[in-house]
Amino acid sequence: MKRQVIVVGAGPAGATAAFYLARAGIDVMLLDKESWPRDKPCGDGLREPIWSLYRDMGVWEEVLQYSTPSTGVLLGAPNQTFIKLYSEMAPLCGPRKIIDHIVAKAAEREGAEFIQNFEVTALIIKRGSVKGVVGVYRGQPARIEADVVVVADGSHSRLSHQLGLFNEDPDLVFYGARGYFEDIGEMTDLTEFFYNDIFYPTGYMWVFPMSGTKGNVGAFITEGALQRSGMRLEDLFDWWRDNTALGNKRLRNARLLGEIKGWRLPACREPWDNYAAGALVAGDAGNMIEAAFGGGQDLAMLAGKDAAETIIEAREIGDYSAETLSRYKKKLIDSQKGIYDIFNLGREYALTEPDDLNELVRIFKDKAESEKIPLENVLADWVMLKMQKMS
Ligand SMILES: Cc1cc2nc3c(=O)[nH]c(=O)nc-3n(C[C@H](O)[C@H](O)[C@H](O)COP(=O)(O)OP(=O)(O)OC[C@H]3O[C@@H](n4cnc5c(N)ncnc54)[C@H](O)[C@@H]3O)c2cc1C
Repeated sequence: MKRQVIVVGAGPAGATAAFYLARAGIDVMLLDKESWPRDKPCGDGLREPIWSLYRDMGVWEEVLQYSTPSTGVLLGAPNQTFIKLYSEMAPLCGPRKIIDHIVAKAAEREGAEFIQNFEVTALIIKRGSVKGVVGVYRGQPARIEADVVVVADGSHSRLSHQLGLFNEDPDLVFYGARGYFEDIGEMTDLTEFFYNDIFYPTGYMWVFPMSGTKGNVGAFITEGALQRSGMRLEDLFDWWRDNTALGNKRLRNARLLGEIKGWRLPACREPWDNYAAGALVAGDAGNMIEAAFGGGQDLAMLAGKDAAETIIEAREIGDYSAETLSRYKKKLIDSQKGIYDIFNLGREYALTEPDDLNELVRIFKDKAESEKIPLENVLADWVMLKMQKMS
């Protein structure tokens, strides 16, 4: 069997790539190893950069129907003070089990062939160029050839390892864990981030509101800080409840629904070379998570669209060499670099030392309580202040 394009992985990156390829009339097969709808451990935060993609894909109303809006952000500092900031760009909270399926179904409606329970085990590589995939489908070995393959098999990607394109920067490997909780104390309609001394640098606990007293609660921490803590990922929830005032308020009487699920988050600071002859890598498989908050759905979907557009151009000239596919990097720079730049600033100026956030809250809290100041303005003012101090 030979197809024009195979996309491996139907998460945000792969489903978006398949959607835009199908929309351009290209024959595309979308493969995923799971039965759908499938769950994915995540904070479920859907940030502003993907809202326009959902609109363009015709799924915005459906996404809104299943997600919970938030009116801003609560930043909890390590010294247990906090600040509430309004933002029109605060993330929606949309359960991955539902939202990912909405996007994958949209790709299917557009004309992509979506095959579930197909585990890809390796890329077919002939004379240095990717030519398809082999795997296991319904217990049987399977082989499908293709002109080009989009590798979007997530943060444990074996295919980007096979290509030598998995860029493991030990400073940028994070771990995350998520649990859905009921009866969370002092819930707000804000997307809440709680920093504390042991998660530094960068890490935090989050509470993202779902409905009433229900929320998505999680931990985000660097591999190094987790090792230093001597705890397992799931222990961080109890530690936060028992050792911090804000954590105690949230989780003291909260009930865990189901189980806490952990996962790996490979991050980067800028787009890099996620292409090879006959293949493009998108999303977590290409370490595309930003390194300040660990968000990656938006970066994955933007990359999926860029991958599709690169393939559409390559197809016009019938050339899938690494040189032609290197146009992908230019597209990633255009769509993603601005996002990384903002998060890199946040990481550098607000999240490196525990005192950063203590000071930020101290400086801006009174103003934030007396008037509705947007998060974006406070962060911009804060970065300016820090730059002046350091110069
Ligand atoms: C705890 C946690 C919290 C997070 N919170 C947020 C958040 O709030 N907001 C945000 O934007 N991002 C968040 N992220 C990051 C976000 O989850 C990822 O960046 C995003 O899922 C990346 O999408 P993807 O399509 O690249 O990969 P995935 O969503 O992981 O999809 C990969 C797909 O590939 C399939 N697959 C894997 N291997 C194979 C194979 N061999 N053959 C066939 N199919 C295969 C899988 O079944 C899966 O469906 C969080 C991550 C974690 C771990």
